[in-house]
Amino acid sequence: MKSKVAIIECRQYRSELTDRAVSAAVELLGGWQEFVSKEEHIILKPNLLARCAPEKACTTHPQVFAAVGKGLLEAGYKNLYYGDSPGNHLIGVEQTAEGCGIRQEAEALDIFPANFSEGQQVPFPQGYAADHFVLCKGVLEADAIINICKMKTHQLERITGAMKNTFGCVYGFNKGASHARFPNADSFGKMIGDLNRLVKPRLHIMDGIMAMEGNGPQSGDPVPMGVIAASADPVALDSLFCRLVHLDPALVATNVYGQKFGIGTYEEEQIQLVTEEGEISMEEAVSRWGNPDFKVEREAEFRGQLNSISFLQPLLDRKPYVKKEKCVGCGICVKACPVEPKAIYFRGGKPAYHYRRCIKCYCCQEMCPKKAIGVKTTRLAKLADRNWRI
Ligand code: SF4
Ligand code: SF4
Repeated sequence: MKSKVAIIECRQYRSELTDRAVSAAVELLGGWQEFVSKEEHIILKPNLLARCAPEKACTTHPQVFAAVGKGLLEAGYKNLYYGDSPGNHLIGVEQTAEGCGIRQEAEALDIFPANFSEGQQVPFPQGYAADHFVLCKGVLEADAIINICKMKTHQLERITGAMKNTFGCVYGFNKGASHARFPNADSFGKMIGDLNRLVKPRLHIMDGIMAMEGNGPQSGDPVPMGVIAASADPVALDSLFCRLVHLDPALVATNVYGQKFGIGTYEEEQIQLVTEEGEISMEEAVSRWGNPDFKVEREAEFRGQLNSISFLQPLLDRKPYVKKEKCVGCGICVKACPVEPKAIYFRGGKPAYHYRRCIKCYCCQEMCPKKAIGVKTTRLAKLADRNWRI
């Protein structure tokens, strides 16, 4: 059976539009009852990466979160909670949710905060990459998760959509430790695949009204994409996002392992794309909502023969660097660095890198609140990408 993905045009964060778009998407998939039952304890899991104003497009927009909550409440679901583990575990979950505008919407709808402030180790011996996870207690107390993800870029995984949004089920500083345990896009993507096998959100709803392009997941730029999309298959949903931004879905490790592990599919012929007007082809969706200029890493990572020459590796890496004029010296990047001893430290009041220690996880870039960390591709890497692809 094909994976069904619903796509609804929605160009503004106005509650009458977002409410309608979310309920139309869920209706096309069969209604809420297809995914959750009324007796269940349900967690709404938005993206709450950091305390960012909604217009920055870094976190799930509160209107989309509210649309999901209202849709469920109107359908008679009462046992609703919300939560996410933010990137900076030193800032409380509710404080972060307040900064993103989600807490206010949740309180207005009587959707309660779940316990994302404590963690518990869960063995996962069947994992392909990870044999255990430390999950937030709120996740363990829930019967079902509805994943309300954001359409954004990510320096390590190229995109962060439905699959990667489950990383916020991992408790606090264990997220940083996971970056150290799974230091590259491939191993990290495999771990995210395992995590999705464990937490298994029932439904994924993607806020793609304003997406983030460029230096995501926190320091990029908002760009209108004008859609709400939803699916029970996070891989199919993420692959729709990839195709809309002209990125080959097979270059995203979370798609590759998601498909390999049987979570879903990114194969176009296995995806049924539905709109309110009926079924449409991927080609039509891309022509209606696609953006070929969306800034995302599209180059293949494989650099052919050069990859096997180990002394060239440092010259091929994409390196984080500090834009000193933007840096305010807050030190969040140093706290976010998961390696010991740290690969980023203070020198003359500004952060500097110890590149030999750096595992290129980009946690520092992800957590910088001032867009003061960029990622640069060396000239040799660019040349290699163009000429030595395999
Ligand atoms: S680079 Fe960013 S996170 Fe690091 S000290 Fe400067 S402003 Fe803070
Ligand atoms: S310096 Fe930045 S990219 Fe390097 S290991 Fe630390 S957090 Fe990761």
